[in-house]
Amino acid sequence: MPSLVPPLFDTHCHLDLPELAADLPLHVADAAAVGVTRILVPAVEAARWPGLLQLQQHTSALQIELALGIHPWWADTATDAQLAQLQQCLHTEPGVCAVGEIGLDFALSGPDDAATTQLQQRQQQLFSAQLTLAAKAGKPVILHHRKSQPALLAEIKRQQFSQGGILHAFSGSTAQAHAFLDLGFKLGIGGTISYERAQKTRDTVKKLPLSALVLETDAPAMPLAGFQGQVNTPAQLALVFNQLCALRHESVDVLAQALWQNSLDALQLPV
Ligand SMILES: [Zn+2]
Repeated sequence: MPSLVPPLFDTHCHLDLPELAADLPLHVADAAAVGVTRILVPAVEAARWPGLLQLQQHTSALQIELALGIHPWWADTATDAQLAQLQQCLHTEPGVCAVGEIGLDFALSGPDDAATTQLQQRQQQLFSAQLTLAAKAGKPVILHHRKSQPALLAEIKRQQFSQGGILHAFSGSTAQAHAFLDLGFKLGIGGTISYERAQKTRDTVKKLPLSALVLETDAPAMPLAGFQGQVNTPAQLALVFNQLCALRHESVDVLAQALWQNSLDALQLPV
């Protein structure tokens, strides 16, 4: 019997983290049952890369893509040896389609101003180095941001980075969105749009060109409205999609088709 649900692509789901990995077959089956047929799993810390690189062997119910990189939360422990390993993997691991998740998190602070400044400088160095590696490997990037969109844009422009990618967990105004779209990025739309209080982001997502959008859960983080305090899962992507359908004027089929194609385009994946 043909499936009634259009295939959906979760472009940001941390399937390798303990909250999901403990019940991996269950989460994969639940996601596949609601139409999620492809998931991008971005890395967070180098210590988890080996497990990440083996994920594809354990998830035959759907297709797994990988992003490899060091999240800004681990900037203070990142080493040159890890960056060398990343560079090598980008050329030797066929499952790795992007560098991520990388970026800048300026909501993080140290015990005093000097420590906070040092932390931000360390993040800047790590982001800059990983962006350069992505450019050399010809791969797109998955961007993490908190209070850091101007700094991300400045570095992308300074390096004239042209591979694009996805601005994960987009929130903000139309002007903020277009600053990234103009540089070849798509915007990751997740559970944020299920919250009434996220009115600015909901208005922005309503008005943006359809070509700008991809879907994501950010599971196990970012539970949708009504699910606060629970572990988020990739099966919730169907609810994110429903929320987006309610905001947009296009038909369900047109939306699903465009989101799928946008995901392939952003991650430079073959059809
Ligand atoms: Zn993430």
